Amino acid sequence: QVDRYLYHMRLSDDVLLDVMARFQAEMVKGLGKDTNPTATVKMLPSFVRSLPDGTEKGEFLAVDLGGSQFRAHQVKVFDDGKQSSQLESKFYPSPKEVIQGNGAELFDYIADCLLDFMETKNLKHKKLPLGFTFSFPCKQTKLDKGVLLSWTKHFKVRGAQDTDVVGSLRKALQKHKASFDIDLDVLALVNDTVGTMMTCGYDDPHCEVGVIIGTGTNACYMEEMRHIDLVEGDEGRMCINTEWGAFGDDGALDDLRTEFDRELDLGSLNPGKQLFEKMISDLYLGELVRLILLKMTKEGLLFNGKASTALLTKGKIQMKHVSAMEKYKEGLSNTKEILTELNLFPSEEDCIAVQHVCTIVSFRSANLCAAALAAILTRLRENKKLLRMRTTVGIDGGLYKTHPQYAKRLHKVVRRLVPNCDVRFLLSLSGSGKGAAMVTAVAYRLAAQRNKISAALAPFLLSLETLREVKNKMRTELEYGLKRETQASATVKMLPTYVCGTPDGTEKGKFLALDLGGTNFRVLLVKIRSGRRRSVQMYNKIFAIPLEIMQGTGEELFDHIVQCIADFLEYMGIKGARLPLGFTFSFPCRQASIDKGTLVGWTKGFKATDCEGEDVVDMLREAIRRRNEFDLDIVAVVNDTVGTMMTCGYEDPNCEIGLIAGTGSNVCYMEDMKNIEIVEGNEGKMCINTEWGGFGDNGCIDNIRTKYDKEVDEGSLNPGKQRYEKMTSGMYLGEIVRQILIDLTKQGLLFRGQISESLRKRGIFETKFLSQIESDRLALLQVRRILQQLGLDSTCEDSIIVKEVCGAVSKRAAQLCGAGLAAIVEKKREDRGVERLQITVGVDGTLYKLHPHFSRVLQETVKELAPQCDVTFMLSEDGSGKGAALITAVAKRLHNVGQK
Ligand code: ADP
Ligand code: MG
Repeated sequence: QVDRYLYHMRLSDDVLLDVMARFQAEMVKGLGKDTNPTATVKMLPSFVRSLPDGTEKGEFLAVDLGGSQFRAHQVKVFDDGKQSSQLESKFYPSPKEVIQGNGAELFDYIADCLLDFMETKNLKHKKLPLGFTFSFPCKQTKLDKGVLLSWTKHFKVRGAQDTDVVGSLRKALQKHKASFDIDLDVLALVNDTVGTMMTCGYDDPHCEVGVIIGTGTNACYMEEMRHIDLVEGDEGRMCINTEWGAFGDDGALDDLRTEFDRELDLGSLNPGKQLFEKMISDLYLGELVRLILLKMTKEGLLFNGKASTALLTKGKIQMKHVSAMEKYKEGLSNTKEILTELNLFPSEEDCIAVQHVCTIVSFRSANLCAAALAAILTRLRENKKLLRMRTTVGIDGGLYKTHPQYAKRLHKVVRRLVPNCDVRFLLSLSGSGKGAAMVTAVAYRLAAQRNKISAALAPFLLSLETLREVKNKMRTELEYGLKRETQASATVKMLPTYVCGTPDGTEKGKFLALDLGGTNFRVLLVKIRSGRRRSVQMYNKIFAIPLEIMQGTGEELFDHIVQCIADFLEYMGIKGARLPLGFTFSFPCRQASIDKGTLVGWTKGFKATDCEGEDVVDMLREAIRRRNEFDLDIVAVVNDTVGTMMTCGYEDPNCEIGLIAGTGSNVCYMEDMKNIEIVEGNEGKMCINTEWGGFGDNGCIDNIRTKYDKEVDEGSLNPGKQRYEKMTSGMYLGEIVRQILIDLTKQGLLFRGQISESLRKRGIFETKFLSQIESDRLALLQVRRILQQLGLDSTCEDSIIVKEVCGAVSKRAAQLCGAGLAAIVEKKREDRGVERLQITVGVDGTLYKLHPHFSRVLQETVKELAPQCDVTFMLSEDGSGKGAALITAVAKRLHNVGQK
């Protein structure tokens, strides 16, 4: 009979799955900026972004308002590796005139209690950070600021709604400060769910959900920042206080609510509000049972139809009674006793029926709670893109803890609703109070960490003034390199290339090109057509140059190169052809003509012996002779910057600068012959290969070099050389990041202070990882995955820090590069004597092309530092291959003209 009577309260799994779906939709609504105002589940950001990591320490105070009892706590957290903490608490009454009185009195009362607590514990002389657990919906804008949205449960204090509760507590404490010698500051405002999660998180790092099922009911969980519209920023996670008690306030649960739920609501302090809470929490369950029993009695189904005055009185049946009646092990004796106390005269059937009513009501509570919790767990799992998830739910509250069957039922239903989550339920011990202390402790730790990280990265932040200085210094060095007297000792070598003109479109023929000096060595066949069917066709093959050859002898290196050429000719079936060849050789070469280049010094990853000071064209010719298999006509030796400029110049005659931002960093540009003192003649122009990578080798930018730059330099093949290149190019950026990560780890700020084997490996952190990590489209979880692949086991916070480090390093690189380029365009503008300069820069290099921000920052910097120049950036397609062929073609044309 009871079953039939309460048919509506028994919820099948299908119904629960439906509730779960409704709750999921409501969460999404609460998170969205536009939909939040009409959402019932408010999804309030808590500004708690991190869980405890075990390194918290110190002494904290906390007050806890909003549960069944008002309490003050003293918490000591020890950083002893054992995660130990000490908690001492004192309970204070919460009289009705205070919790249903006016705001000022309430906060005075809290301050009084706190003062009493400090006196009892002899803490009055100490300055302790205070955490404030306040378990009502608050709209927070900071960790220590929260405007009360509405009172819930049995609280109803006048004049507090819509005001900042931390401010009110501070004001009350201030009043006491005058009369007593105390000095307290409220550091964190914490909801009890958050406190519970944090307390459990201190013991179990998997904990990312907090649930309260007590006087009220509510839950919080860690949400991805990028899903939280109401808070700036996309990085990491933040704890969201769902305030799920208000679920259904828009009628979404009306089909499940019974006449008893409606009656209960009408008699409550806040009719129409917290409808979900009213079906679940212990403040209401007893009353629900009472209303049901009363109706059943009135209909003659119980107690011979006779209701006692007690049964007619609101609040006479409480949660503790329901719990006691459901102790099946004790048979019906509890039930009988309780009913008798209510002046009812129960028969055995009455007792069985009443017990059953209690079970149905409390079971429904557990079911509904499970459905909402299942929705949260599913959301967490989907956020993490996992098929199966392991997680821990920190949980607290009187109903959950004291009811004999509640916890078991809840666990069972949750596991049934989300079979793909392995959930551990961790009971929190005084979570709400200790949790506030934990939040305060974590906030303390994070603030200290933040300061250290900012200090480490501060030298990477370059002011506009500093960048302007860099530009000016670069300008000075450019001039030194061009002047006869200073040229020999200049760090920016300003090498003449003997490339004096750009292509005019009449070039044609078949050419071979070699590209040596980057990550790959390539041999190319380039076919250039002129006239109306102007086009360039290329065939190329990439060959690996093993490290032992890159760093072996010069003869071995060039023999290897010739071997590769032979393979290529064979592969293309052109072994017999004696083609003109352009040799892109991207190292500083002193040229006396277009087909002569003496290597000044190796850079980047090369270090073959017996090459420096030698003519690389001669070395190549000799290696061809040694092989004695084919002959080639080496027409030009070309720097990759020049090739890039020429390639773009083929399309855009305004292109007079070539920039490489790849493995290395370098620039060339067309200079007036009259400015090039070391080359005879004053007519026309010649392309200068600046070799600006050596900028700073005289110490002129040491003021902006960090200790990390110095470490990278010392660990390189060419210590002391190419200082600017080492701050700006692909070969080194990852290495700088690695040095910073090592330092931060040593300071205990990353990777739990553990320097892993892989972090010790030079070169492990490639520049391509910077691009991946800094990509805006990448979720933090993916950053973690990248780090994991590198053998770096990171937490969510670690990933944020790593991303920040990458950003600082790549931004500085782009800005420095931009400052250098600004010096060049400004020089060209002044040389040309124009108010405004229109110029195109041909660019190549994977760092420039693939890094998500490098090119933009570089361009912005140029604009800022050279405002009178309109610079167009043109991506070069395979500058070093195509460019070498074009230069060869031009040289060949000029040569032929000369011969004629
Ligand atoms: P080159 O060696 O001729 O300069 P590239 O221009 O292709 O050749 O540059 C290769 C360099 O670019 C690599 O050494 C590496 O440092 C860097 N790099 C590779 N992939 C990326 C990427 N995805 N983002 C940024 N830099 C990259
Ligand atoms: Mg290249």
